[in-house]
Amino acid sequence: MKDNNLDKIINELKNELGNTTLVAVSKTKSNDEILKVYHLGIRDFGENYVQELISKMDTLPQDIKWHMIGHLQTNKVKDIVKRNIYLIESVDSIRLVNEINKEAIKNNKIINILIEVNIAGDINKTGCSIEELDNLINYTKELTNINLLGLMAIAPQTEDSNIIRDSFHKMHDLKEQYQLQLLSIGMSNDYKIAITEGSDIVRIGTKIFGARNYNK
Ligand SMILES: *Cc1c(COP(=O)(O)O)cnc(C)c1O
Repeated sequence: MKDNNLDKIINELKNELGNTTLVAVSKTKSNDEILKVYHLGIRDFGENYVQELISKMDTLPQDIKWHMIGHLQTNKVKDIVKRNIYLIESVDSIRLVNEINKEAIKNNKIINILIEVNIAGDINKTGCSIEELDNLINYTKELTNINLLGLMAIAPQTEDSNIIRDSFHKMHDLKEQYQLQLLSIGMSNDYKIAITEGSDIVRIGTKIFGARNYNK
Protein backbone atom coordinates (compact mmCIF):
# COMPACT_ATOMS: atom_id res chain seq x y z
CA MET A 1 0.00 0.00 0.00
CA LYS A 2 1.22 3.44 -0.84
CA ASP A 3 1.97 5.67 2.12
CA ASN A 4 0.80 9.12 1.00
CA ASN A 5 2.08 10.84 4.09
CA LEU A 6 5.59 9.47 3.64
CA ASP A 7 5.43 10.40 -0.02
CA LYS A 8 4.56 13.97 0.98
CA ILE A 9 7.35 14.22 3.56
CA ILE A 10 9.98 12.97 1.10
CA ASN A 11 8.78 15.31 -1.63
CA GLU A 12 8.82 18.29 0.68
CA LEU A 13 12.32 17.43 1.82
CA LYS A 14 13.55 17.02 -1.76
CA ASN A 15 12.21 20.49 -2.60
CA GLU A 16 13.80 22.09 0.44
CA LEU A 17 17.12 20.35 -0.04
CA GLY A 18 17.87 21.19 -3.67
CA ASN A 19 21.37 19.84 -4.32
CA THR A 20 21.95 18.75 -0.73
CA THR A 21 22.08 14.97 -0.37
CA LEU A 22 19.44 13.44 1.88
CA VAL A 23 20.62 10.59 4.07
CA ALA A 24 17.64 8.82 5.61
CA VAL A 25 18.73 7.78 9.10
CA SER A 26 17.17 4.35 9.61
CA LYS A 27 18.58 3.19 12.95
CA THR A 28 16.09 0.99 14.88
CA LYS A 29 13.83 0.90 11.80
CA SER A 30 12.87 -2.33 10.05
CA ASN A 31 13.72 -3.43 6.52
CA ASP A 32 10.08 -2.92 5.54
CA GLU A 33 10.14 0.68 6.74
CA ILE A 34 13.41 1.28 4.89
CA LEU A 35 12.05 -0.25 1.69
CA LYS A 36 9.09 2.15 1.70
CA VAL A 37 11.54 5.05 1.63
CA TYR A 38 13.74 3.27 -0.90
CA HIS A 39 10.77 2.89 -3.24
CA LEU A 40 10.26 6.66 -3.11
CA GLY A 41 13.68 7.03 -4.72
CA ILE A 42 15.96 7.50 -1.71
CA ARG A 43 19.25 5.59 -1.99
CA ASP A 44 21.35 7.01 0.86
CA PHE A 45 20.70 5.52 4.30
CA GLY A 46 22.50 6.13 7.58
CA GLU A 47 23.02 3.73 10.48
CA ASN A 48 24.66 4.05 13.91
CA TYR A 49 25.29 0.50 15.09
CA VAL A 50 27.55 -1.96 13.24
CA GLN A 51 25.52 -5.13 13.93
CA GLU A 52 22.34 -3.50 12.70
CA LEU A 53 24.10 -1.94 9.72
CA ILE A 54 25.65 -5.17 8.49
CA SER A 55 22.44 -7.18 8.81
CA LYS A 56 20.67 -4.51 6.74
CA MET A 57 23.54 -4.37 4.23
CA ASP A 58 23.26 -8.11 3.73
CA THR A 59 19.48 -8.19 3.22
CA LEU A 60 18.45 -4.92 1.54
CA PRO A 61 18.98 -3.88 -2.12
CA GLN A 62 22.62 -3.71 -3.12
CA ASP A 63 22.36 -0.25 -4.69
CA ILE A 64 21.79 1.39 -1.31
CA LYS A 65 24.60 3.77 -0.34
CA TRP A 66 25.22 3.05 3.33
CA HIS A 67 26.55 5.82 5.58
CA MET A 68 28.03 4.86 8.93
CA ILE A 69 27.20 7.80 11.19
CA GLY A 70 27.55 6.33 14.69
CA HIS A 71 30.51 5.89 17.00
CA LEU A 72 32.70 3.17 15.50
CA GLN A 73 34.83 0.82 17.56
CA THR A 74 38.09 -0.32 15.99
CA ASN A 75 37.24 -4.00 16.42
CA LYS A 76 34.11 -3.54 14.27
CA VAL A 77 35.86 -1.80 11.38
CA LYS A 78 36.60 -4.98 9.45
CA ASP A 79 32.91 -5.95 9.34
CA ILE A 80 31.93 -2.85 7.42
CA VAL A 81 35.08 -2.37 5.32
CA LYS A 82 34.78 -5.83 3.78
CA ARG A 83 31.18 -5.03 2.86
CA ASN A 84 29.97 -2.28 0.60
CA ILE A 85 30.18 0.77 2.87
CA TYR A 86 29.71 4.02 0.95
CA LEU A 87 30.90 6.59 3.48
CA ILE A 88 32.11 6.43 7.08
CA GLU A 89 31.08 9.81 8.49
CA SER A 90 32.14 9.29 12.10
CA VAL A 91 35.93 9.04 12.02
CA ASP A 92 37.31 10.85 15.05
CA SER A 93 40.75 9.47 15.92
CA ILE A 94 44.09 8.42 14.50
CA ARG A 95 43.58 4.98 15.98
CA LEU A 96 40.31 4.54 14.11
CA VAL A 97 41.51 5.88 10.79
CA ASN A 98 44.59 3.64 11.00
CA GLU A 99 42.37 0.62 11.50
CA ILE A 100 40.14 1.59 8.55
CA ASN A 101 43.23 2.04 6.37
CA LYS A 102 44.63 -1.32 7.44
CA GLU A 103 41.39 -3.16 6.63
CA ALA A 104 41.02 -1.21 3.38
CA ILE A 105 44.49 -2.38 2.29
CA LYS A 106 43.59 -5.99 3.15
CA ASN A 107 40.43 -5.76 1.06
CA ASN A 108 42.11 -3.82 -1.73
CA LYS A 109 39.68 -0.90 -1.40
CA ILE A 110 39.70 2.85 -0.99
CA ILE A 111 37.34 3.90 1.81
CA ASN A 112 35.59 7.28 1.74
CA ILE A 113 35.45 9.03 5.08
CA LEU A 114 34.38 12.21 6.81
CA ILE A 115 35.98 13.39 10.03
CA GLU A 116 33.45 14.02 12.78
CA VAL A 117 34.15 17.23 14.63
CA ASN A 118 32.94 17.76 18.17
CA ILE A 119 31.74 21.26 17.43
CA ALA A 120 29.67 21.44 20.60
CA GLY A 121 32.65 20.60 22.78
CA ASP A 122 30.44 18.41 24.98
CA ILE A 123 32.47 15.85 26.88
CA ASN A 124 29.82 13.17 26.35
CA LYS A 125 29.73 13.52 22.60
CA THR A 126 31.89 11.78 20.03
CA GLY A 127 34.01 13.60 17.50
CA CYS A 128 37.48 15.00 17.19
CA SER A 129 38.07 18.23 19.12
CA ILE A 130 38.80 21.41 17.17
CA GLU A 131 42.29 21.38 18.68
CA GLU A 132 43.03 17.89 17.36
CA LEU A 133 41.47 18.41 13.95
CA ASP A 134 44.48 19.81 12.11
CA ASN A 135 46.62 16.90 13.19
CA LEU A 136 44.00 14.29 12.28
CA ILE A 137 43.39 15.80 8.84
CA ASN A 138 47.10 15.96 8.01
CA TYR A 139 47.61 12.42 9.24
CA THR A 140 44.64 11.07 7.28
CA LYS A 141 45.78 12.69 4.03
CA GLU A 142 48.94 10.56 4.11
CA LEU A 143 47.10 7.24 4.34
CA THR A 144 47.13 5.22 1.11
CA ASN A 145 43.64 3.68 1.19
CA ILE A 146 41.61 6.47 2.76
CA ASN A 147 39.79 9.12 0.77
CA LEU A 148 39.05 12.08 3.04
CA LEU A 149 35.99 13.80 1.58
CA GLY A 150 34.97 16.18 4.32
CA LEU A 151 33.62 16.87 7.78
CA MET A 152 30.59 15.87 9.82
CA ALA A 153 29.13 17.43 12.97
CA ILE A 154 26.17 17.29 15.30
CA ALA A 155 24.91 20.67 16.51
CA PRO A 156 24.97 21.50 20.22
CA GLN A 157 21.81 20.43 22.04
CA THR A 158 20.00 23.70 22.47
CA GLU A 159 16.79 25.44 21.49
CA ASP A 160 18.80 28.52 20.58
CA SER A 161 18.96 28.62 16.80
CA ASN A 162 21.71 31.25 16.89
CA ILE A 163 24.05 28.85 18.68
CA ILE A 164 23.22 26.13 16.16
CA ARG A 165 23.76 28.52 13.25
CA ASP A 166 27.12 29.66 14.66
CA SER A 167 28.33 26.10 15.05
CA PHE A 168 27.31 25.19 11.49
CA HIS A 169 28.95 28.35 10.22
CA LYS A 170 32.16 27.39 11.95
CA MET A 171 31.99 23.94 10.34
CA HIS A 172 31.59 25.52 6.93
CA ASP A 173 34.64 27.71 7.57
CA LEU A 174 36.64 24.59 8.47
CA LYS A 175 35.51 22.80 5.32
CA GLU A 176 36.70 25.77 3.24
CA GLN A 177 39.93 26.17 5.17
CA TYR A 178 40.91 22.57 4.47
CA GLN A 179 39.48 22.66 0.94
CA LEU A 180 37.30 19.62 1.45
CA GLN A 181 34.35 18.57 -0.72
CA LEU A 182 31.63 17.62 1.73
CA LEU A 183 30.00 18.94 4.87
CA SER A 184 27.49 16.72 6.66
CA ILE A 185 25.41 18.86 9.01
CA GLY A 186 21.72 19.02 9.82
CA MET A 187 19.23 16.61 11.42
CA SER A 188 15.43 16.62 11.72
CA ASN A 189 15.33 19.64 14.02
CA ASP A 190 18.01 21.80 12.44
CA TYR A 191 18.37 20.82 8.78
CA LYS A 192 16.84 24.09 7.56
CA ILE A 193 19.58 26.03 9.32
CA ALA A 194 22.16 23.59 7.97
CA ILE A 195 21.01 24.17 4.37
CA THR A 196 21.42 27.92 4.68
CA GLU A 197 24.90 27.39 6.16
CA GLY A 198 26.06 25.31 3.20
CA SER A 199 25.36 21.70 4.11
CA ASP A 200 26.18 19.12 1.40
CA ILE A 201 24.61 16.21 3.30
CA VAL A 202 21.79 16.23 5.84
CA ARG A 203 21.07 13.19 8.04
CA ILE A 204 17.36 12.94 8.78
CA GLY A 205 15.70 10.22 10.82
CA THR A 206 12.71 11.20 12.93
CA LYS A 207 11.13 13.48 10.33
CA ILE A 208 11.00 10.61 7.84
CA PHE A 209 10.49 7.52 9.98
CA GLY A 210 8.83 8.95 13.09
CA ALA A 211 10.14 8.67 16.65
CA ARG A 212 12.51 5.83 17.47
CA ASN A 213 11.72 3.11 19.97
CA TYR A 214 14.97 1.70 21.33
CA ASN A 215 13.26 -0.95 23.49
CA LYS A 216 11.66 -2.91 20.69
C1 LIG B 1 20.22 9.59 14.93
C2 LIG B 1 21.14 10.51 14.19
C3 LIG B 1 20.65 11.40 13.21
C4 LIG B 1 19.17 11.58 12.90
O1 LIG B 1 18.55 12.30 13.92
P1 LIG B 1 17.02 12.79 13.80
O2 LIG B 1 16.93 13.83 14.85
O3 LIG B 1 16.18 11.60 14.08
O4 LIG B 1 16.83 13.32 12.44
C5 LIG B 1 21.57 12.16 12.51
N1 LIG B 1 22.89 12.09 12.75
C6 LIG B 1 23.39 11.26 13.68
C7 LIG B 1 24.86 11.22 13.90
C8 LIG B 1 22.53 10.46 14.44
O5 LIG B 1 23.04 9.66 15.39
